[in-house]
Amino acid sequence: MSSSEKSKEKIPGTGDEENARNKFDGDATSHSEDKAETSSSNTDSDLSHMLESKLKVEEKVQEDSLLDEVTFEGIARYILSDRCKNIVTMAGAGISTSAGIPDFRSPGTGLYDNLEKYNLPEPHAVFDISYFKTNPEPFFVLCKDLYPKQAFKPTPCHYFIKLLEKKNKLLTHFTQNIDTLERVSGLSDGKVVEAHGSFNTGHCRKCNAQYEQEWMRERIFSEDVVPRCTQKDCDGIVKPDIVFFGESLPDKFRMHIKDMEECDLLIILGTSLVVQPFASLTGRTRKNVPRLYINMERTKGGGGDFFSMLFGGGSNFDFDNPDNIRDVFWQGKCDEGCQALADLLGWGEELKTLVCEEHARLELEMKATASTQPKAKV
Ligand SMILES: [Zn+2]
Repeated sequence: MSSSEKSKEKIPGTGDEENARNKFDGDATSHSEDKAETSSSNTDSDLSHMLESKLKVEEKVQEDSLLDEVTFEGIARYILSDRCKNIVTMAGAGISTSAGIPDFRSPGTGLYDNLEKYNLPEPHAVFDISYFKTNPEPFFVLCKDLYPKQAFKPTPCHYFIKLLEKKNKLLTHFTQNIDTLERVSGLSDGKVVEAHGSFNTGHCRKCNAQYEQEWMRERIFSEDVVPRCTQKDCDGIVKPDIVFFGESLPDKFRMHIKDMEECDLLIILGTSLVVQPFASLTGRTRKNVPRLYINMERTKGGGGDFFSMLFGGGSNFDFDNPDNIRDVFWQGKCDEGCQALADLLGWGEELKTLVCEEHARLELEMKATASTQPKAKV
C-alpha cells in the first residue's frame, strides 16, 4: 500500500481507536450473555460481590497518591523507589532548541522566508499532504533547513532520557520531533516512538520502495531538489517519513499507546501539548500516576480537551487543584530541569559526564566524515 493510500484520515489514529472501542464493547456484551446462560443466582451474587469489592479497591487506588509529597523532590524520591519501574517520556520541540534546531511550527523563525516565491496559501501548506501532491517543491526547499545535520548534537535533556533507559526505568519515549536526535543520543529503537515520523527513512509515493536518510540527503542537497525513485520503471517522488497534516500517525505510535496503561510516571518535556492526538496521551495514564511537566510555560493542554475526552483522555493537569495528588510543574528550560532532576536523583555527575563524552565522540565522528567526504555540502 502506498503512503498516499494510507493517508486518507484527517484525524490520525481515529479509525483504530474506534475499532478498539467497538471490539471492547462487543466482547463485554457477549461475555455477560454467556454468564446469563450458565450461571446460577448464587454465582451471580458472588460475581456482583467480586465486582463490588474490585470497584472499591480501584476507587481507593485512585485516591491514593503514589508520591510522599507532590513536589519535584517527591517525584525524584518516587523515581528512586521500586514502585516506579516504567517511566514514559513525551517530548516536543523544546528539548531540541538548545541544539540549534528551529521549531518549524513557530512563525518568525525565518524558516519560511525562502518559500515566498511559491505563493503558498499559508506557510503550513508546505506540510499539507494534499498541497504536497500538487506541488512538492516548497517542501524540499524547506528540507534543506530542516534536514538533520551532523552538526546538531543531542542536548543534556536527550541524554537524561538515555540515562533513564540505562537505569532500566524507561518504558517508552514519545517524541513529536523529526530531528532524530533521540537516536543520535543512543536511545534504543524499541524505546523511541517518533509520533510525527522522522527523516530516518523515506518512501516512494508510487511503489513504496524504502530509502535511507543518507540517500535522501544526497538528493535533497543536490541541484534537482526533489528526490525521485530509482526502482525500475518508477519515477515516484521519495518523501521523508515525516507525518504531514492529513496523514496517519505511524503504526508504531498506535502500537505503543497501550504503554500508557503500564506507565508509573509520565515526564512531559518541552511541548505545549497543543498538537493532537499526541497531547491526549497525557490523559491515558492510570488516574493516580504522577505527571511531571517541564516546560518554559504552563499549558492549558494536558489532554483535557474535547478530542482527548472522545478518545480516552479527559484528564487535565491538576496543578491548581487543592486535591492534586500527582501533577508537578517545573518551569524553565528542559536541559536545566533534567539536570536539576538528575542532581536530586544522585545522577547529576553521571549525566554531565555522559554529555561531555558523547559530544566529544560525535565531534570526532564529524571530523572523520569531513575528511573522508570533502565534497559533502552539509
Ligand atoms: Zn518507486
